[in-house]
Amino acid sequence: MIKDYDADKRLREAYDFCIVGAGPAGITLALRLAGAGWSVALLEGGGREYTPRSQALYKCTSTGLEVFAAEDRLRYLGGTSNHWAGRCRPFTSADFAVPPPVEMPGWPIPYAEIERYLPGAMEIVDLPQGAEFKAVNPGLNGGEFEADRFLLSPPTRFAQKYATALDETPGLDVFINCNCVDLLFDPDAGKLKAVQVSDYEGKRQPVAARNFILATGAIENARQLLNSKSLAQAGVVTPDGLVGRCFMEHLNIDMGTFILRSGEGTDPRQYFTTDAFVAQYQAGRGNVLASVLADVQTYGRTAEVKHFLENLACDMGVASKIEFVAKFSCPGDGVISTLIEQFPNVHSRISLLDEQDELGVAKVNVNWVLSDSDRHTIKCIGSELAKQFAEMGLGFVKLNDFVYDTSLPLKMSPHAHHMGTTRMAASAKDGVVDTNCKVFGTENLYVAGSSVFATGGASNPTMPLLQFALRLADHLNQKMHSATGAAA
Ligand SMILES: Cc1cc2nc3c(=O)[nH]c(=O)nc-3n(C[C@H](O)[C@H](O)[C@H](O)COP(=O)(O)OP(=O)(O)OC[C@H]3O[C@@H](n4cnc5c(N)ncnc54)[C@H](O)[C@@H]3O)c2cc1C
Repeated sequence: MIKDYDADKRLREAYDFCIVGAGPAGITLALRLAGAGWSVALLEGGGREYTPRSQALYKCTSTGLEVFAAEDRLRYLGGTSNHWAGRCRPFTSADFAVPPPVEMPGWPIPYAEIERYLPGAMEIVDLPQGAEFKAVNPGLNGGEFEADRFLLSPPTRFAQKYATALDETPGLDVFINCNCVDLLFDPDAGKLKAVQVSDYEGKRQPVAARNFILATGAIENARQLLNSKSLAQAGVVTPDGLVGRCFMEHLNIDMGTFILRSGEGTDPRQYFTTDAFVAQYQAGRGNVLASVLADVQTYGRTAEVKHFLENLACDMGVASKIEFVAKFSCPGDGVISTLIEQFPNVHSRISLLDEQDELGVAKVNVNWVLSDSDRHTIKCIGSELAKQFAEMGLGFVKLNDFVYDTSLPLKMSPHAHHMGTTRMAASAKDGVVDTNCKVFGTENLYVAGSSVFATGGASNPTMPLLQFALRLADHLNQKMHSATGAAA
């Protein structure tokens, strides 16, 4: 049942599972675990709708590249799925088999571990069962780029789609306006004993459970771990550890422009780097979208559009792109945008600030930085694309100078795909969670969402993070059956 914590603070004495955060990851886990017969508390800091007061708790500072993390994430029931775009592309086996060419290791599990959860994740985001991830155009001849393959979710809005299930699943208590403000660790037991929750007046109480799952998105998952004094005192979270480090995004680079050879169709083209490209250049993966701007002209009916774009004040990182688009006046000109892999890098990180939010939780700074390896990936993708466009006679690509001159600052924007801050690894030396998404050094604290990604590839993160959530639900179900002796 969905209860407003402002009005109803009655908790069970202890739950089997306490899940913090009701976005795609948290909702998926809550419904699976309650559906298996366990008692579950799903704690959501926001209400049923957007409120400035809840959203303000996401305010953070930025010392690196701008991520717009205060605006692009949404802090209410359903989380950021309330405005995600629904683009779905699965990881591939190569994402898991080939470690990144940097000092951090890649995935400690084979792709098969999550591949079997693909049909379940597709169903959750309303993709037809058995549907193929289709190419919309042919690849390029050189062997470096194949056609991209993806599917579009409607997009699924989790709070709406699962409203009845959240309200009616037996054993499930969903509390909205219920903010996690601390994680209370018992060092003798090696277990989290409760999460401390607060209403908006600052009244706190503990929620006790046998197992806990953080599902608050990649920045907040790290923030909650870093904010907990008891986890720090027990040495589970240490200042030089990996919690908050290896923050990754997908890179949307202003690669440049192109002019199509006349006679080429003007439909957008989407390409994806091949495994051969990755091996040959020791580079990351990337999706490239080449779109022809046939309609953006300074005259006629579209003049209004151009005027609108020029004047649009946008705080989500696309202002420079809009300015760039607005400069176009020639039908047939095209823009190239990307979704490029960033490699894990310990300097790209979330860290705590001294300042606290309204509820007494330390605020965070996001220092999103790229490494030389990332600049190498961008350069290789840009140069190869330009070469192959010319060789195939498709048209001419004019790359921006910062693509090939890596000493110049990049023009780019983020995709709001936050990943890596509680990365999965075989040991605590290289990560924060183990292969079952359990925080190293604890017996009962788990993490869900793309913060567990060891590498981010160039696939959109939501459907894959649901595959991980389904796998985690299976693991926890088995763990509880073993612990209680209940028949599976
Ligand atoms: C504009 C935009 C477009 C996108 N398009 C795509 C796309 O096309 N394809 C794709 O794969 N991905 C896309 N994404 C990314 C996608 O939205 C995220 O991957 C996804 O929402 C992450 O799910 P999550 O459950 O891990 O986190 P979230 O959706 O962020 O949910 C976290 C939840 O935790 C709650 N919470 C936070 N702190 C607390 C606390 N202290 N106490 C209690 N509750 C708390 C929040 O209110 C929220 O409900 C897009 C993102 C944006 C911003």
